[in-house]
Amino acid sequence: MVAFVPGNHGLSPSAILWPAAALSAILREQLEYLIDHAGARTEAGCPACARYLRVRSVLLEIFCNSADAPPPPGK
Ligand SMILES: [Zn+2]
Repeated sequence: MVAFVPGNHGLSPSAILWPAAALSAILREQLEYLIDHAGARTEAGCPACARYLRVRSVLLEIFCNSADAPPPPGK
C-alpha cells in the first residue's frame, strides 16, 4: 500500500510515494526524535524545538475542545 497524502502538507513529492508502512515508521522516528530533543533541555528556539511545538500543537488540537480535554497532569 502506498500512502496517499492529499496536497503535500509540506512533504516532498518523494515522501508521498513511499509505502505507507515506511512513511509510518519515519513519522514515528521523527516524533520520537522531537520528543527526545524537547526533553533534552537544549537551547530553546532552535529549528528542532520549533518543529516539536508545531507537531505538538497539531497532535493535541483534538483536546482543545474542553469536553475532550484530558485531565491535567497529576490528577
Ligand atoms: Zn531545540
